[in-house]
Order: sequence, then C-alpha cells, then structure tokens
Amino acid sequence: MLTNAPKGTKDILPNQVYKWHYVENAFREACGRYVFKEIRTPVFEHTELFARGVGDTTDIVEKQMYTFEDYGKRSITLKPEGTSPVVRAFVEHKLYADVQPSKFYYVIPCFRYEKPQSGRLREFHQMGIEIFGTDNMMADAEVIGLASDFLNSLGINDLELRINSIGCPQCRETYRNALRAFLKDKYDDLCDTCKNRYERNPMRILDCKSPLCQERVKGAPVMLDYLCGDCKTAFDDLKRNLDAMEISYIVDPGIVRGLDYYTKTAFEFVSNRIGAQGTVCGGGRYDNLIELIGGPSTPGVGFGLGIERLLMILEATGNEIPTPENLDVFIAVMGERAKLFGLKLMRELRMQGIKAEMDSMGRNIKGQFKYADRLNSKHTIIIGDNELDQNSVSIKNMETSEQKQVPLQDIVKEIIK
Ligand code: ATP
Ligand code: MG
Repeated sequence: MLTNAPKGTKDILPNQVYKWHYVENAFREACGRYVFKEIRTPVFEHTELFARGVGDTTDIVEKQMYTFEDYGKRSITLKPEGTSPVVRAFVEHKLYADVQPSKFYYVIPCFRYEKPQSGRLREFHQMGIEIFGTDNMMADAEVIGLASDFLNSLGINDLELRINSIGCPQCRETYRNALRAFLKDKYDDLCDTCKNRYERNPMRILDCKSPLCQERVKGAPVMLDYLCGDCKTAFDDLKRNLDAMEISYIVDPGIVRGLDYYTKTAFEFVSNRIGAQGTVCGGGRYDNLIELIGGPSTPGVGFGLGIERLLMILEATGNEIPTPENLDVFIAVMGERAKLFGLKLMRELRMQGIKAEMDSMGRNIKGQFKYADRLNSKHTIIIGDNELDQNSVSIKNMETSEQKQVPLQDIVKEIIK
C-alpha cells in the first residue's frame, strides 16, 4: 500500500517528464499563435458546479466523481473536466464585460473514478481551449483548426477528424422521441446503464461501449436528419469553414459526446493506433452552459485533449521527442581548496545559464570522471591544487577528448563559447 500509487494513477518520472514538457510547450506555442490566454482554476470545485454543468445524467456525475466533504461540511469535487471551472471563473470575475470573444487555454489534471485500462486512468491530464462569446461557426472552425495544427506540429497527421451536430434543446427533443420510438422494442436487450438512459438521456445509448447495445442501435435515426433550420445552417457553415481552411473531416452521426452541455457542433480526433480508447481530442459547442451556471446567456465552444493518449500516439507512430541536453560542464576536483573554488565556479556558471554539476558523494578523481560520463557531460573541468597554483585549469571536451589549458578568470567565457 504505502509504496504503491493509488489505482489508476501514474508517476511521471524524471526520465519521461521531458516528453510532457515537449508536448505542453508545443501546445502553449500553438495557443499563443491562435491568441488564446492561459487560465488556471483550482483543482477542486463545489460539487454542484459539475452536477449542474456536466449534467447529472452523465456517467461522470453519476459514478465517476471524486467527491468528499471537507472539514467545513462543504461537498467538494476534484475536477473531472476543464470547461465548467473556466465557465465558473468567467462568470465570477465578470470576464464577459471585457471585449469579446474570450479565448482561454489550460493544462490540467482531471479525476474520474473509471475502470483503469490502457488510455483510461483515474488521474489523467488534459490540455484544452475555450472560446466564449461568439456563436459564429468561425470559432468552431478555429477550435478544430488549433487542435489539428497542434497535432500536426508534433508530427501526428494520420488522425481522423469526425464531426457531427447534436442540435439544440429544441430539435434534440424531437430527435430523442424518434430515438426512443426506435429503441422501444429493443429496450429489454439494452444493458442496465442504457435502460436507465432510455428515458433520461437516450442519445448516450448511441455511445455505449457494450457490443450488444451497439448492435441494437444500428440503423437508429440520426440527429443530422432532425436538425432545426438554425442548427442545420450552422452545421453547413462549419463544413464550409473547414473546407476553406483545408481541414479534412468525416461527418459521423455517431459522435454524441459524454457531457450534457453540448449543442450543435461535436467533434473528435481519433487514432487507430492506440486501441479501444482511440479518441485523443474531443470537443464541441455549448451555447447554454454559461447561462446554466449563472452567467449571462453566452455561447461557447472548446475541446479537451488527453495528454496520456497523445503520448501513446507519439510512441506508436515512432515520433521521436528530442531528449534534452543533460549537462554542459562537470567540475572534477581534487582536495578541499579545489572543492571550494569549484563551488564558486559552479555557481557562476549556473548563473550564466550553463548546466553545471559537481560530485557530492565523495568520489575519488577516477570516480568523478566516470560519473561525468554517466551524466553525459559535454565538458569536464579538472581542478587540483596544482591548477590553482598555476592559475589555470584544463577543460576537456568529452566528445572530441580534446584538452585545453584555460586561465582561471577565462573559464566562464570559454565554456560559454
Ligand atoms: P471516452 O469516450 O474515451 O471516455 P470522454 O468523452 O469521456 O472520452 P472527454 O470528457 O471529452 O472524454 O475528455 C477529453 C479527452 O480526455 C478524451 O478525448 C481523452 O483523450 C481524455 N480522457 C478522458 N477520460 C480519460 C481517462 N479516464 N483517462 C485518460 N484520458 C482520458
Ligand atoms: Mg469517458
């Protein structure tokens, strides 16, 4: 127990963390180019926010939230997704009073009590963006475009972009009725979860992972045939925008999304390289969420992208993430006087932005050289009493084995060179 991380969580060890830095930096850069600003919200929120925002008929709220009572008897939940907290902050700080649209991005841990498996964890990480304030389909295309460009920038270009419209509350109600009518005589064959969904949220049945339910929904009516005029115009508009931006997509009426707040646009980027959990990025439009959470009626659109799944795809496609440079200089010392000089030198080098290291384990000089090798140091500086007396040290280039005598006062200059 004591030395095992909780089920469904993963340590990110120092020899892997550079990959995280790499994709996070690439994401931040992409967001910068698209003029999104970062927003940071707490790791936990009032439970009510998600119950209301995500919707209490969703899997997330019904059975996946990490909810607890704090010492002040408040119900608190670790965030299972990123959008509702951003909406809460947008409303709380009256950001709607600023010039619109508002464009946010975030990189966050998310928590869902799920059955852990490949690509499915209890603590996982998302990068996401949101645009609030415009219902123009340019925003939907921009959100999709950012995801697409970001993935391309990592060398991932074989994902399928699937888009759909899940309509608005008005046309969706007509559709739900049609769907219920279709499923009526198949009801007994549905899994228990879907029986439960039948009345409350029948569209979620389309997304059930159980093979029997998948079989039963074959041939079901599709939302696209039930869109009202407004929703249909919007979907056509989106497709035109994507065409203009030369982003290819597949219209997939099966994309329904797991959160209740979506309206109109729904989309996913799917990989066929990482098994059943192939959706790396999912998003869509949510024109009623901000009002639902207590803000002024404000449309929104965004996506969430799973970092663990992204790294799995990078692994599967053999896209190399460059390993960072380890060490510029190792300072090998012999004797107390040399050690003290080494400490001063190391500090100066580090302040100049140079990665410098010394031994602190009491290794002899041979051991220090070996250690420098292990650390993959580019240069080694050798300092002993002799060197100090003669006012010069030798700097060894570890790649070429070339050695050079350098006066003490020129060491920093020489290394920078
Ligand atoms: P799925 O259908 O795979 O459960 P979802 O619809 O629940 O996904 P979203 O809520 O849209 O997923 O989250 C956005 C992204 O976050 C997903 O596309 C996926 O990459 C990632 N994600 C979601 N749940 C998990 C999880 N439990 N473990 C790892 N990544 C996850
Ligand atoms: Mg899910």
